[in-house]
Parts: sequence; C-alpha cells; structure tokens
Amino acid sequence: MIRIAIQAKGRLNEESIELLRESGLSVDESKRKLLAKCGDFPLEVLYLRDDDIPGAVAMGVADIGIVGLNEVAEKRENVSVVHKLGFGKCRISLAIPKSEGYEGPSYFQGKRVATSYPALLENYFAENGVKAIIHKIAGSVEVAPSVGMADAIFDIVSSGGTLVVNGLKEVERVFESEAVLISGKNLDNTKMEIVSQLVSRFEAVERSRGMKYLLINLPENKIEEASRITPGLRSPTILPLAQQGWCSMHVVVEEKDLWSKLERLKNLGAEGILVLSLDKIMP
Ligand code: ATP
Ligand code: MG
Repeated sequence: MIRIAIQAKGRLNEESIELLRESGLSVDESKRKLLAKCGDFPLEVLYLRDDDIPGAVAMGVADIGIVGLNEVAEKRENVSVVHKLGFGKCRISLAIPKSEGYEGPSYFQGKRVATSYPALLENYFAENGVKAIIHKIAGSVEVAPSVGMADAIFDIVSSGGTLVVNGLKEVERVFESEAVLISGKNLDNTKMEIVSQLVSRFEAVERSRGMKYLLINLPENKIEEASRITPGLRSPTILPLAQQGWCSMHVVVEEKDLWSKLERLKNLGAEGILVLSLDKIMP
C-alpha cells in the first residue's frame, strides 16, 4: 500500500483526481475525508493544502504526491521529482507598475518586492547580484503595489489578466511550473514497484491526450498513399470490406493536424470517415 498526497481544494485538485480516475484509480469522492482508499489498487489518497505536500512526502507521511513544481522548488524539501504531469502550467514572474521603465534586473536594487515565493526570489536576486527587500505575504500579492506595500511583485502568472487589472506589467519570467509527481527518497522496493506501475498508467493516459482514432473506407489501390498521410503508431490496420476493391483503414492520429489529414484523405477518395476518442495508449 502506498499513500499519495494531493491538493484538497484549489487549482490542482480536479485534474489530480481526474488523472487518477483515468488511470483506473477511482477515488470515492462522495465519502471524501482526509484519507480515502482507491478501489483495488494499493493506493490511499491523502488530501492536503498544496504548501504541505512537499513536507508530508519528505517526512514519509505520504509516499508520493502531486504538486506544482513551484512549491517543490520553494519548499526545498528532500523529495525527488518522478514525473512531469503536463497540467497546472504557469510561471512565476516579476511584475512592476506599468508606467515604470525597465531595463533589467538591476531595476530591483533596493526595491521592496512582495511574494509568496521568497526562496525562489532570493535565489533569482542572488544569481543576478541584486539586493532587494523581500516581503513575504500569503495571498493577494498582486494588490501590494497599489496599496503601497511594495514596489513590485513576484507572483504566479498564467494569462497575465490579473496583472493588467492591477496596473502591472510582467518584466521577468523567472520560473516555469507544472504539476509533478514527487516521491520520498527512501521508498522500499515494494513501494517503488507500485510507483512505477502508477507512472506507466499516467503515461498511457498522457499519450492518448490530443490523439484520435480514425476509421475510413478507402479504395484498396490508395493504401500506400494514405499510409504516407497517416502512418499511425506502427502502421495502419487494414481490414477488407465486403465490397471488392475497398478496405477499412484504422489509424491513430494527432488531433492538431487532424483536419488537414482528413482533407487529404478525402481527396484521395476516402469516404465514411469516423473520428473516435481514445482513452489510453500503451506502447
Ligand atoms: P492551497 O489552499 O492548497 O494552499 P493555493 O491557494 O496555495 O492552494 P492554488 O491557487 O490552488 O493554490 O494553486 C495551486 C497550484 O496550481 C499553484 O501552486 C501552481 O502550481 C498551479 N497553478 C497553475 N496555474 C495557476 C494560476 N493561473 N494561478 C495560480 N496557480 C496556478
Ligand atoms: Mg498553497
């Protein structure tokens, strides 16, 4: 049995639960409590605030956890990043009032900067030889300059909308983050085995994201040309149709170039095209 810590509520909660669910680990949310069991997989879920996840994993209260890389870097606990999960993407940036001119990090010399990420910021200033005053505040960092608490902020940005609303502009992108799976450093072999099984399941789910399953009816003499358009994972599956001279081609394609491929296949003489969703892809 291993225990995974995930965010109890907030931006990473839903996608963490969804990833577990798609990996065949349904967490019974109706009976949600601090600790929940996961069907037939030897996994227990512990719900925590994201700030507490790196520490809980380092202490062994949880064996693994899902948390933003920004929290892992800020907390500097003794944990390993096992796998990047591709959701919860954001960056931590320095922002200043939009009327100010900016020529580089020396701008911050002697300035007061408000942040919830003092360790990351201290690191950045040290690397850039800047001596500034770091004000640690827990939330609503973006309003600090307008109420006179600080000259600048160092905070999470995703679209930048919040900055604009508060009369700020982003001047340095310091840290890129996404949700990651972390583990403690001293897991025994049985637990390591469960972790790698879990990572394989996560990978199968990730591979299927952005992929579609395509079924088309195709004249047999077009198989070669069609295979060049949609080569599939290894090669397309070809099945005979009852009507002579025709076949059914099945293939996995990336969603991003789906439309252009469909048009090219149609021009080749393909018809009866079906596009289906995919849940998992095992290599
Ligand atoms: P908690 O109550 O668990 O301490 P929180 O308020 O500290 O929650 P959230 O706002 O829920 O944290 O964000 C959790 C994580 O989601 C962040 O640390 C970051 O890794 C990620 N994230 C991704 N996009 C954003 C965004 N636009 N704003 C804030 N966090 C984001
Ligand atoms: Mg938090």
